[in-house]
Amino acid sequence: MKAMQPRIIPRKEHSISRKQISRNALRTLYRLHENGFTAYLVGGCVRDLLLKRIPKDFDIATDAAPGQIKRLFRNCRLVGRRFRLAHLHFQDEILEVSTFRAAAPVEEEDGEEAIPNDRPPRHLKDADGMVLRDNVFGTPEEDALRRDFTINALAYNIADFSVIDYSTGLIDLDLRLVRPIGDPFVRFTEDPVRMIRAVRFAASHGFVIEPATWETLCELSPTITRASPARLYEEILKLFTFGFARGVFDLLDESGLLAALFPALSRWIHEEGHHRSILRSNLENLDHLHQVGTAPSPPLFLAALFGPVLEARALARHLDGVPRQQALDAECTDFLEEFRKTVTIPARVGGRVRIILAFQHSLHRMPRRRPASLVKRPDFADALAYLRLTVETKKENRKALQWWDAFLARDLSPAPPEAPPPETPAKRRKKRRRRKRPAAKSAT
Ligand code: ATP
Ligand code: MG
Repeated sequence: MKAMQPRIIPRKEHSISRKQISRNALRTLYRLHENGFTAYLVGGCVRDLLLKRIPKDFDIATDAAPGQIKRLFRNCRLVGRRFRLAHLHFQDEILEVSTFRAAAPVEEEDGEEAIPNDRPPRHLKDADGMVLRDNVFGTPEEDALRRDFTINALAYNIADFSVIDYSTGLIDLDLRLVRPIGDPFVRFTEDPVRMIRAVRFAASHGFVIEPATWETLCELSPTITRASPARLYEEILKLFTFGFARGVFDLLDESGLLAALFPALSRWIHEEGHHRSILRSNLENLDHLHQVGTAPSPPLFLAALFGPVLEARALARHLDGVPRQQALDAECTDFLEEFRKTVTIPARVGGRVRIILAFQHSLHRMPRRRPASLVKRPDFADALAYLRLTVETKKENRKALQWWDAFLARDLSPAPPEAPPPETPAKRRKKRRRRKRPAAKSAT
């Protein structure tokens, strides 16, 4: 990818203030700078600071090699097999510090030498152009241009507090556009996960995916299954558990990504119009949970997404004569099995989805037997949250939910002052102590 002349925005012409940057990140940047290294804040945090959003994390890029970073910071651990980078461990956060890296072997780009390191540089693509390894050090420009989208390629330079734009990040921030750096076909082929990331940034930031990019994304959506199943699970969690699941769902559905990732779910949605509305409503309610300060757990989000189809199928089995819980278990097993090869849902998480769904029957049942024992079960909170979001969706079981809310309010309200303890236990304790002492003395 050819570098353009970078656009450098001096401090007085942009809005990023050092007060918005975490103390740890600021100290790290200064320490690198004082030791003669270039040090930039990079990636999503620069984008979010310019948009006046609170960044999720602060990433730092530098020309210091991993070994040099390790020597400068006592709290440093080097991690990563594909690309060696430094994690700085602070009490309240872990900062990622990476050495500037290039998208292709440096000698192919402009003949410069890579920064020497303890590991040999590697760059490898498969026959279809998917990047398997990109362990190659590079210049700051190369580091910016190997990033996924223009809005994610901005840098903040601690040396003079300027913002550096090596592509069209600032323009695209103004236009509110998600646009890959370079040819979308090449960039999505190199790493299909970028398609999911495009959807994430569009939904989380209210941006539009640039039209030619969107067309390419729709064309390439079936190739998402080439990404590693474990990585896909991580990216999908970020899609659905940060408060913008509803927007994500529509983009995944329209682009064909949903059909590629979860074919059975996609078929169910297209069976009948109201199935889509059920999911939209569930996800909207899930987003609401996030807005009121409860980030949904992975099992809860999976239940919100897959619960309606699993419950519908389990009911059909039950009406055919299979016992209710057995029908639900069988559906959960079949369903998780179907996309095991595409997305790795950890068995422990899949098991908890099953429990949340199975729990619903006990939560709906009136009158309740020993409700306090249900509250103590480990998945009670998620099961109740699922009930809450489905009550909103289906407009059913509202009474049951109100009952549980009232019960919990009673349960959690401060206990009345304790009655004086019954006499017998107190007396017994005293007696025992008196008896023990002489026994101990006689033993010495
Ligand atoms: P968030 O605020 O959600 O964390 P982010 O942009 O910081 O968003 P990260 O996943 O934390 O996203 O990644 C940090 C940066 O690394 C990105 O901004 C981008 O520059 C780069 N990056 C991440 N994933 C890719 C990828 N698949 N291809 C190219 N660059 C990537
Ligand atoms: Mg980030």
